[in-house]
Amino acid sequence: CRTVRQVEPSPIREMFTKATEYENVISLGIGEPDFHTPAPVSQSALEDALAGYTHYTASQGQPELLDALTAYLNPNYGGELKRENIMLTVGGMGALVGSFRAIFDPGDEIIVPEPYFPAYKAMIALSDGVMVNARTTFEDGFTVKPEEIERRITPKTKAILLNSPNNPTGAMIPKEDLDQIAELVKKHDLLVISDEVYDRFVFDNQKHDSIYNRPGMAERTLVIGSFSKAFAMTGWRLGWVFGPKELIAGVLKVTTFYTSCPSSVSQRAGLAALNQPEETWLEISRAFEKRRDIAYEALSAMDGVKVHKPAGSFYIFPSIKELTDDTLAFSLELLDKKQVVVVPGSGFGPSGTDCVRLACTVSEKDLTLALEKMADFCKALK
Ligand code: PMP
Repeated sequence: CRTVRQVEPSPIREMFTKATEYENVISLGIGEPDFHTPAPVSQSALEDALAGYTHYTASQGQPELLDALTAYLNPNYGGELKRENIMLTVGGMGALVGSFRAIFDPGDEIIVPEPYFPAYKAMIALSDGVMVNARTTFEDGFTVKPEEIERRITPKTKAILLNSPNNPTGAMIPKEDLDQIAELVKKHDLLVISDEVYDRFVFDNQKHDSIYNRPGMAERTLVIGSFSKAFAMTGWRLGWVFGPKELIAGVLKVTTFYTSCPSSVSQRAGLAALNQPEETWLEISRAFEKRRDIAYEALSAMDGVKVHKPAGSFYIFPSIKELTDDTLAFSLELLDKKQVVVVPGSGFGPSGTDCVRLACTVSEKDLTLALEKMADFCKALK
């Protein structure tokens, strides 16, 4: 049917499948923390399951978790969030799809800066929206310029999608650009979907910055969050969305009919995660920062490779333009010759065509080894 035809396979999954043909592969392909969920979180969820938390919950989520999450978010988001502003979802993915479905009439446009998380494309198409790409460049550090967004606005534009820190580049949108984008959004009466699932991985003592906190933006921004990355809980499939209560009511209305509610045991795990000492999570973030440094240093020293230092997330997105104009062939050959998985940048939109994405989600030892192998490989290409 049309829906199936419309959706293209993810380049990340394709590399993942290809890699299964090889042994002793080091995969910098998949974007998930290598850390397991901390034992106290799993233990607590297990005990709760045994105590009977095995039933449907309210579609919005368990009240206790909603309150804990509201308390967790309020210090960073203006302090006005109430239960009616927030709902739990099946991962950040569930929050994204629910948000798209709740805001688009067929043909409505959403401006999405490249490079982008590939799933957006399918999700928007499946929600009857039209994705309008905004270009970025390596020279600009892959952060979208407000002028580029303005150029893409038409009478059909409904929303702008932002993802900072970004997958695949690790870039963060500078403060002044967020200010200007907020002004554009208000001037043209638009909405923002702000995907902030990497909010806890922000490096160099910087602070995560959200467009939601600009004057007048809380009324028109849906913020997407997730337990997946920050709390090393990808498999529990738990995320959230918060924003103006009328929009959240819409997301809740549509989401109820395709997920009922997120898993009740996962919600108990989410509650346990929020109750862990902050240090547990800081440790994970520091580990990613250290790996970012390792990857940045190694890539900077490679012949024919240019790279920006990511401000956040756990990705790095070097340009290999001087070595090849076919990043897919590069990635396949790197896998074949060196058993290292990277993802070709073209899958993240045309602006990323010259790059490959590395996810620093393996141990420092494996990361260092993979980078040595990649350096050898690049040297041979020069
Ligand atoms: N947004 C971005 C930018 C992502 O990279 C991901 C996962 N790779 C998600 C959302 C969704 O993650 P999850 O559904 O596991 O919360």
